[in-house]
Amino acid sequence: MSDSTTSIKTFRYRLYPTRAQEAAMFETLRLTRTLYNAGLEQRREAYRKHGKTLSAYDQQKELTALKEACLEFSGVYSHVLQDVFDRLDKAYKAFFSRVKKGAKRAGFPRFKPATRWDSFKFKQCWNNAKNDWTACGKPVDDGRRISIPKIGNVKIKLHRPLEGKPKSLQIVLDVDQWYAVYTCEVPVQPLPTTGSSVGIDLGTTWFAVTSDGEFIENPRHLGRSLGKLRVQQRTVSRRKKGGNRRKKAVKQVAKTYRKVRRQRLDFQHKTARRLIHEHDLIAHENLQVGNMAQSNLARSILDAGWAGFLFQLAAKAESAGRRVIAVDPRYTSQRCHACGHTGKENRVNQASFRCVQCGHTANADHNAAKNILDRGTSTERGEPLGRAVPSGENGSGVSHAVA
Ligand SMILES: [Zn+2]
Repeated sequence: MSDSTTSIKTFRYRLYPTRAQEAAMFETLRLTRTLYNAGLEQRREAYRKHGKTLSAYDQQKELTALKEACLEFSGVYSHVLQDVFDRLDKAYKAFFSRVKKGAKRAGFPRFKPATRWDSFKFKQCWNNAKNDWTACGKPVDDGRRISIPKIGNVKIKLHRPLEGKPKSLQIVLDVDQWYAVYTCEVPVQPLPTTGSSVGIDLGTTWFAVTSDGEFIENPRHLGRSLGKLRVQQRTVSRRKKGGNRRKKAVKQVAKTYRKVRRQRLDFQHKTARRLIHEHDLIAHENLQVGNMAQSNLARSILDAGWAGFLFQLAAKAESAGRRVIAVDPRYTSQRCHACGHTGKENRVNQASFRCVQCGHTANADHNAAKNILDRGTSTERGEPLGRAVPSGENGSGVSHAVA
């Protein structure tokens, strides 16, 4: 989608729909979800009965007939309906790629309950030929409203200006608030070079430790809100199923989660922005967070939100012309940064490192961050990875750097 001169940036704004508009948005959610589930069923059937894999295109071709048969679907903008099949296709592709990688639980695409369906998307906001907005998401009324086809001109709070060329618009329901999320293509604006490179070691004791020796504290938003959540969950379970009072309590829980999510996002955003401003090159471990989260560390890892942070880091680097490198993390925690000796016995405990070869002592995470930086810079220079292997059983204690 983007080349080296542009990058993709998202802009999120709060919407204030009227009652009628909100009803139309809820109806669009209901219909798109119905379509998603029907599309999933169709793909399953096609495969089961005929061994045939349907594509998004195959399914999109049927939309005209569907609208004739089920009139309610003609109340939804065509692109929004098409996008449903693109999403389904993405879910399938992600599933197949997990299977290919040999993931333990590949997670076949599932039917979506209402609680797991909270957005719909207009995939074309810009008409390239005319070099102007389409009817999807165009600001009207001096930027006080935006045009949303089949919904109306919805009030919006544009708290910061849109940048670049808008590509798509997603309408998102977040508990009880509606948002417009624009994806825009913006020109890369390179930051001035700093001549500085940094390695970061992500952890649970600290959110991150840098090779410069900076310890970034873990915000643990979820931890702090856990007590509150526990009380709110108890209220939910006390209340009668299907009752209005229970629904209200469920909403309270969702709001607490939303608060945690926003605080975490804010933290990730600020941390990533600072690192991007201070360094030309940032190296981090390639964590494959998805796999790690299945272990018993899941809670603290999810809380730390590494994946979200790394995502923000990469996105900001792209729009600022910085380099972010994910390096092979193996043995970075066991290798002595001073002499290169690598071995488990170097780790005194979780927090401290003492090299049995040269006696070098350091904070374990700080030592690891320096190793990560080394790997990042050698990757950057196009050198062999310099992946250290642990010294052999023969006790020679000599470390090897292998290509
Ligand atoms: Zn050493």
